[in-house]
Amino acid sequence: MFLKAEKICGGYGKNRVIQNVSLEVSKGDFLGIIGPNGSGKSTLLKLLTRVLALEEGFIFLDGQNIAQMGLKGLCQKIAFVPQETLIQFPFTVHEIVLMGRIPYLKRWQTETRQDFQIVEDALKATDCFSLRNRQIDELSFGERQRVITAKALAQQPELLLLDEPTSHLDIGHQIQMLNLLKTLNQDKKLTIIMVLHDLNLASEYCNKILLLHEGSVYKEGSCEDVLTYQNIEAVYKTLVVVHKNPISSKPYVVLVSKTKSEK
Ligand code: ADP
Repeated sequence: MFLKAEKICGGYGKNRVIQNVSLEVSKGDFLGIIGPNGSGKSTLLKLLTRVLALEEGFIFLDGQNIAQMGLKGLCQKIAFVPQETLIQFPFTVHEIVLMGRIPYLKRWQTETRQDFQIVEDALKATDCFSLRNRQIDELSFGERQRVITAKALAQQPELLLLDEPTSHLDIGHQIQMLNLLKTLNQDKKLTIIMVLHDLNLASEYCNKILLLHEGSVYKEGSCEDVLTYQNIEAVYKTLVVVHKNPISSKPYVVLVSKTKSEK
């Protein structure tokens, strides 16, 4: 198993948000984490990336306990794109993405031509090349989100974790971002764990889904197993109908509004 979390617990001081979560991710998986607001999705990603320390349990990456890995080694394997990134210094986009190469540099070593090529490829893949000389603190949220994704790609990780990677993007860039992730997943066998609000996008792009409910796993499995109207109604407390997308054959969730008589 590529990533294995065993009964992990964690949160913020007395507020233990994640309770006894276990999950397994194989190499090449594209796992979507869904759940209502406050169910602990972001907190789970922070625990999986060691941004937050575990209170209980273990996380193994390629058989290694991540709590015992060196930071450089961890950053060569895992890259994380958080929901919001606060960068208040006037770094250029190019400088930020170049920081993705830090885990590979030895002490006093400067970037090589290969590092610059990797950065250029990451900038182009995320449609950020034209922004490369702009200051990060002067960009829109959507542009920043793409730049931070470019930095994560420049890290050339084996596992990429993203928290709502499309939340600030217009629909064109949303699909471009998800298609890029799908291509990296299929062609480069990059393993991806992504928190996504949109159940239908999760269904279209992920091969596995984990539904979180109040900090615990409510259901994990294929899109068909997880995205049932019973599971969604139980966790989101919302009426839905689940159809099959006629093109992809994946589950397609439709919200049901109140009828006139219920008003
Ligand atoms: P989700 O991503 O599913 O919306 P979060 O993981 O962001 O959920 O939040 C889960 C719970 O943890 C919420 O009750 C939230 O208020 C709390 N929480 C999130 N971040 C912090 C923080 N930095 N400090 C204290 N509590 C937090």
